[in-house]
Amino acid sequence: MDARIVLLPGDGIGPEIIDQAELVLNAVAEKGGHALSFERCPIGGNAIDDFGDPLPEQTVEACRNSQAILLGAVGGPKWDDPTAKTRPEAGLLKIRRELKLFANLRPVKTFDCLMDSSPLKRSVLEGTDILFFRELTGGIYFGDSGRSTTETGEESAYSTMIYSTSEVERIVRLAAAAAMQRGKKLTSVDKANVLEVSRLWRQVAERVVKEEFPELEYEVVLVDAMAMHLISRPSTFDVVVTGNMFGDILTDEASMLPGSLGMLPSASLGESGPGLYEPIHGSAPDIAGKGIANPLATILAAAMMLRHSLGLEDEAADIERAVDAVLDAGHRTADLAGKGETSIGTVEMGQRVVEAL
Ligand code: ATP
Ligand code: MG
Repeated sequence: MDARIVLLPGDGIGPEIIDQAELVLNAVAEKGGHALSFERCPIGGNAIDDFGDPLPEQTVEACRNSQAILLGAVGGPKWDDPTAKTRPEAGLLKIRRELKLFANLRPVKTFDCLMDSSPLKRSVLEGTDILFFRELTGGIYFGDSGRSTTETGEESAYSTMIYSTSEVERIVRLAAAAAMQRGKKLTSVDKANVLEVSRLWRQVAERVVKEEFPELEYEVVLVDAMAMHLISRPSTFDVVVTGNMFGDILTDEASMLPGSLGMLPSASLGESGPGLYEPIHGSAPDIAGKGIANPLATILAAAMMLRHSLGLEDEAADIERAVDAVLDAGHRTADLAGKGETSIGTVEMGQRVVEAL
């Protein structure tokens, strides 16, 4: 297949980790006879420096004309001035909005070789492989909010959690379709014992699953219970779908399961058009330019890109197996290395993955 991919290296360690992901993608493409073409565009702090805009129009255009976008990270102390008229992160928020990306996907998988350094027991972590779908553009973060003062002078504030039928339908549909490709189990998380908006969520989710995905094993779990289950029995979940705020909290909780920030990719998808793929970590300015950043989260984000935007499931699984093999062979970047273990740099880690492919 032919595909146009936009690379947005960004700031800090972004360019270093994107380089390695590009090498891995080229290796996979060559092996499978696919023609992937790459275009690099500016975003974030470097774009503010060069164009006075964290998201120049040329970047938006290139993204619109692509099948998928792979992002490094944006931001850094150089652009942290709170009085500045624009910030690197504004570029990221704007591209998400421009492309109408409403679903945030976060896989959480535990790696055998990292389990012993986790505060949780190996028996709890083993077999954990969850894919979260967090709704990204609605809910309490975007509902009506405000403040008022009572006659006695006391201040009050409110934020409204609001979801429409169509907003719930589209995210549940995406999550259910993904579950059909995986373990065929879907968990919807809400707070329907208290919140009316959750009762609508539950009603719509149930209908979509019953009518369109009858083969799925389906369950609903209350968000407070889910917070417990995630650390007591994470391996029992497959695909989890939830709203914006519950997803924000639960995915941060779950990100502790694998044991390192440097291993976690994510994706943001819309109804149609290109998806945006990135590591969940930031630009790590403290280690930028030192050649020691872990490129695996970005490489795993590239695998997600092949799976969810290009339909190349086998190639995606190949990359994931290569990453497993490299870790199993004992190769570690500094963030993964235990006390006394030797570590390898960014470029060497990328090279090891290419070799394992
Ligand atoms: P954000 O940009 O979301 O505000 P942050 O500043 O909270 O991010 P990061 O930039 O992700 O956090 O960095 C947090 C810590 O993790 C830093 O010490 C950084 O060096 C380390 N870190 C982040 N990503 C990586 C990576 N890929 N490899 C090695 N270390 C990393
Ligand atoms: Mg940061």
